[in-house]
Amino acid sequence: MSRLGTETAFDVLARAKAMQAAGKDVINLGIGAPDFQTPPNVSEAGIAAIRDGYHFYTPAKGLPEVRAAVCEEIMRVRGVEADPENVIVCPGGKPTMFYAMLMFGEEGAEIMYPNPGFPIYESMIEASGAKAVPIELLESKGFSFDAASVLAKVNERTRLIIVNTPANPTGGVVPKEELAALAEGLKQHPHVAVLSDEIYSRLTYDGEKHESLMQFEHLRDRLIVLDGWSKTYSMTGWRLGWGLWPKELVAHAERLQINSVSCPSAPVQMAGLEALRGPQDAVDEMRAAFDERRTFIVDGLNSIDGFRCVMPKGAFYAFPNIEGTGRTSNELQDLLLEEAGVATVSGTAFGKLGEGYVRFSYASSKEEIERAIERVKKVLG
Ligand code: PLP
Repeated sequence: MSRLGTETAFDVLARAKAMQAAGKDVINLGIGAPDFQTPPNVSEAGIAAIRDGYHFYTPAKGLPEVRAAVCEEIMRVRGVEADPENVIVCPGGKPTMFYAMLMFGEEGAEIMYPNPGFPIYESMIEASGAKAVPIELLESKGFSFDAASVLAKVNERTRLIIVNTPANPTGGVVPKEELAALAEGLKQHPHVAVLSDEIYSRLTYDGEKHESLMQFEHLRDRLIVLDGWSKTYSMTGWRLGWGLWPKELVAHAERLQINSVSCPSAPVQMAGLEALRGPQDAVDEMRAAFDERRTFIVDGLNSIDGFRCVMPKGAFYAFPNIEGTGRTSNELQDLLLEEAGVATVSGTAFGKLGEGYVRFSYASSKEEIERAIERVKKVLG
């Protein structure tokens, strides 16, 4: 238990909420949650499901029609066929990574994970007893990785490699060539499984198409894909996600689900079904709004003395280098929250290699972003 970490964004959210409750005006660019309402057709489907008697347990893996709709989504986004039997619908994206880490992590094993990256990877690897081996994501490479250096760290103890594209906290997108090189190199290491966290699959910009590791057929029998409804449909609080598991692992993951949560919420699944099968206009509109805010916030951040920000290609985060301010990431996070009333998350919340960076979520309105940039300038000025 002492090795289990946390997700600092939730601490920042609690601090920001406490300040707001005490009457302070705080702009929240901390937590990674879209600020839009869940599309009304989706909410109505959830409400109707409650009225229509969806109050029982469902099959542990989720309702068959929802799993079928997930496979339709996999085809829509990735152009690849998947078997609904291999899909496990769960409460959010996180359970899939939790199950994967419980399955693969143990004393003596090694798991590779992106750094800076989603903090739960390192936390869960450490908690499992496995050694957490960082995959360095560098600003100079658009926060992607170099497949050759990842492959160079693989050894007989390596059990799992975690890939996250588009990425939190950097907004980086791993180019197709790099994914292909990784997939090719893994032919030499058939004992290594891969967890591909694609929770931001529908949020790419500049004409970038989402590239999934699913396209490499030889990896499929050891590839776990994680995605869900949280970011795409603005459904973070509904708690709904899915994992696509290799045939050999799906029964084990199902037992982990039965041992932990039994099944995903029934009415929430019906909302999720409407989200996947209903009109997708809201997704396109939200994505277009994020895209506009993206250039706006990056321009704003680059106009702050001591900040340097690369243009992210996916997700809804900007990850400026703040070394020029002469402060550490934690110092700046605290200063911005306490003095400027702007909630952000220190880069170090995402791993050691996040030092020198601060994450700004632009899942907030343009007006809020504009006010936030002005306040940051004033405090640092
Ligand atoms: N994976 C990544 C990379 C994330 O950024 C997040 C949420 O921030 C998740 C997974 C978890 O998603 P969920 O809220 O659906 O559990």
